[in-house]
Amino acid sequence: MESHRFNADVRQILDLVTHSLYSDREIFLRELVSNASDALDRARFESLSNEDLRSVEGEPGIRISVDTDAHTITIEDDGIGLTADEAREHLGTIAHSGTRAFAEALKEKGEGSSGLVGQFGVGFYSSFMVADKVVVETLSARPDSEAVRWSCDGGEDYALEPGSREVRGTSVTLHLREDAQEFGELDEIKQIVQRHSDFVSWPILIEDERANQEAALWTRNPSEVEDDDYQAFYRHVSGDWQDALTWVHFRAEGTLEYQAVLFVPQKRPYELDRLDYKVGLKLFQKRVKILDNADQLLPRYLRWIRGVVDSPDVQLNVSREILQQTPVLASIKKQLTKKVLKQLKTLSKKDPAKYGDFWTEFGHILKEGFHEDADQKGLLTDLLRFRTTTSDGELRSLAEIKADLKEGQDTIWFLADVDKARIAKNPMLESFRKKDWEVLLLDEPVDEWVVMHLREFDEVPLKSVAHGELPEEESEDDDPIAEAAKAQAKPLVDWMKTLLGESVADVRLSNRLTESPSVLVNQEGAMGANLERILQAANQEVGAQKRVLEINAEHPMVKTLARLNGEGKTGIEPFARLLLDHAAIAEGRMDDAEGFAGRLQSLMEKAAEAL
Ligand code: ADP
Repeated sequence: MESHRFNADVRQILDLVTHSLYSDREIFLRELVSNASDALDRARFESLSNEDLRSVEGEPGIRISVDTDAHTITIEDDGIGLTADEAREHLGTIAHSGTRAFAEALKEKGEGSSGLVGQFGVGFYSSFMVADKVVVETLSARPDSEAVRWSCDGGEDYALEPGSREVRGTSVTLHLREDAQEFGELDEIKQIVQRHSDFVSWPILIEDERANQEAALWTRNPSEVEDDDYQAFYRHVSGDWQDALTWVHFRAEGTLEYQAVLFVPQKRPYELDRLDYKVGLKLFQKRVKILDNADQLLPRYLRWIRGVVDSPDVQLNVSREILQQTPVLASIKKQLTKKVLKQLKTLSKKDPAKYGDFWTEFGHILKEGFHEDADQKGLLTDLLRFRTTTSDGELRSLAEIKADLKEGQDTIWFLADVDKARIAKNPMLESFRKKDWEVLLLDEPVDEWVVMHLREFDEVPLKSVAHGELPEEESEDDDPIAEAAKAQAKPLVDWMKTLLGESVADVRLSNRLTESPSVLVNQEGAMGANLERILQAANQEVGAQKRVLEINAEHPMVKTLARLNGEGKTGIEPFARLLLDHAAIAEGRMDDAEGFAGRLQSLMEKAAEAL
């Protein structure tokens, strides 16, 4: 017998599992059954290409038994088994980021956190929630391999020795802890299997009786499947502990044959933003699972969809690990995508509140579709929701926004700024507020890409309030006071152009402002401040973008400056420069902090003298 030390990750997991988890302990069985089922999948899959693999007599499956005298429960499978090397590698180390993420989350959330176990799945080591000793007897299906016995009593070491198993597969025996004796009762075990493992595609036998469903859910007729079954199935395939938000179940027949059940989760999977995120779509070929994470069947922006696709038409390439990029695959992908988007559209009509919840979780990922999938632009556009200057935090669709355009408004206006606190306060919005025109508030980086691809909606152009010159207000009775202010400000504008020179692209009178004295806007077609910031944050080189300084002829400070300038007064230069400083600060930037501090100081001195 050889004794081995677990690696540090496993020791940490074991410690947490043994000492910190008191709720949801029954999921150990789900984890062991799921390992058994995976092992059976592997055996079936590998036997397709390897005739020498050890075979089994009778129908392969999973058997669960208890020994009431010894207080043990045993989960046995006819799967691929483990060689001694594999046992060391798979049962002695942690390969798998989910387990580590679990440990991190657990440490953060504190002891006994219910839900966490279900959410993450801690795999094989969850046995130690209920057992103080675990013995694995295994024989690999590979020819020439020898039986192995792996055992551990929850400490920092495990033992490996020659085993006694004579047929391929694995049995895992748990010596139940004093406080976990209920898991040695068959009735209890049957119920746990039905709760968590009902949809495992291999037979699970308890005392020679099948405990789980016979027919794979996706092969059944949708009209005969209850919502509860879908939800249970969802939890089974996703490992999620919450229900799904919605789903589609359909069958394609004809040139392309497949069945699919696709689920929309309620919440973003915790690991969704990780680079090593694995999609939760499983691919079967006539009920045999061939891939757990089939990322070729849906576009990236739908990577949060969970479910199952089963098709006789898919082919694996020689390495048998990756799908061949066949036209079949491309068509399935396109059809699945359409189905999902249509289902979301239906949800948005039937239950806007629920759709709003969906949008809050997944909207920003869905928006990646504008960049990734030009084919679906139409459907994606229908699914877009926005907060706007007039929506009071509610989400609005483009169709609603279009329907509510005001008289004379022939454009849907938007403002993009990823600073959620600042966006609604932007001075660019002043004249729109005054007219009561609705402006979309785009506060996510991905929005820049959406509007790049979405130039118009239903023949109404979409434009940024921060770009180009706004048309002059057409007021019925010309306001003579405003006209006079503008006339007086014109020489000021010309003077400021010379003064500011290269630091701005232009200076002009603004049609945007009512309250603020000045604002910086982008030239038509130029990159906006928001996009510039996003690119800079992503460490991308962006050339310096010159902006146009617009000033508000009717603002008291501008009026005074225009008068003083007209009178040929000297000493107004710092004030004129402060108009540019003000606009830059409103935009959330301060390019010339030193100069600004100097100007502010001289201004304060002057103001103090005048007191
Ligand atoms: P996961 O299943 O998520 O990879 P586990 O900790 O549950 O993590 O299992 C670790 C590994 O041990 C599995 O990936 C598999 O290689 C191996 N293993 C576990 N149970 C069995 C089994 N019943 N038959 C064969 N291999 C198994």
